[in-house]
Amino acid sequence: MPQKKGPAGGRPELQKANPVVIFAWVPAAREAIRSAARIETHAERAGFRRGRGGRWHCGVHADKNPSCSIRGGLIRCWVCNQAWNVIDLEMLATGASFLESLRTLAAEYGLPAGAVSTDPAEAQRAALARLELPAAKRFQRVLINLTDELLDTLKAGLFDPLLPAPEEGEIRSLEVLRQTIMDAADSALVHEYRIWRDRWPATVAALVQVAKCREKAEQRALAEFMARLERIPQKADA
Ligand SMILES: [Zn+2]
Repeated sequence: MPQKKGPAGGRPELQKANPVVIFAWVPAAREAIRSAARIETHAERAGFRRGRGGRWHCGVHADKNPSCSIRGGLIRCWVCNQAWNVIDLEMLATGASFLESLRTLAAEYGLPAGAVSTDPAEAQRAALARLELPAAKRFQRVLINLTDELLDTLKAGLFDPLLPAPEEGEIRSLEVLRQTIMDAADSALVHEYRIWRDRWPATVAALVQVAKCREKAEQRALAEFMARLERIPQKADA
């Protein structure tokens, strides 16, 4: 069934559970499963059958002429007027609840247990990390900009006799640092961000704020640019 949002979604087991737990692991597990699983495999398990011309026979209604098509991770029946993703198909095939299906699929695709943990303490840590991720990403951006500027200055010193020459290995170690920051996975990034923030709270807060302002300015500039682009063909039409 198509996924509905809000309390009317008809998933009582979700409404009963601890909201922090849901916030932390359901979205992560759902996305990981959707990208790991093939819709065809799960359609077959739920009783859908391959038919002519890439179409599928519906597993829900008696479907002599195939009425289903697969697109964008969904199988859609044009007679039932319904679409199912892999998790919906698992629920359809087994009659299990949404949460049970999510756990089964996560185990099947060997996803990290953390993604489907219901341990409230772990879920809370994951939830906090998710909340801090935007700030950590901004901090990452600022650090990269700063190292870039520093590298520019140091490299200029190699060629310009009026500038101080960089110390042995200084450029290399900065480039390694820059690469480490760029490659950091989300969890590593949040961890790194916390270390800096705990040590220099005011400086880090200011740097994150700078990145935020810069982002907003860039978004505004981009929006204005796009609006201008859209106006050009209209003028040409007139
Ligand atoms: Zn159908």
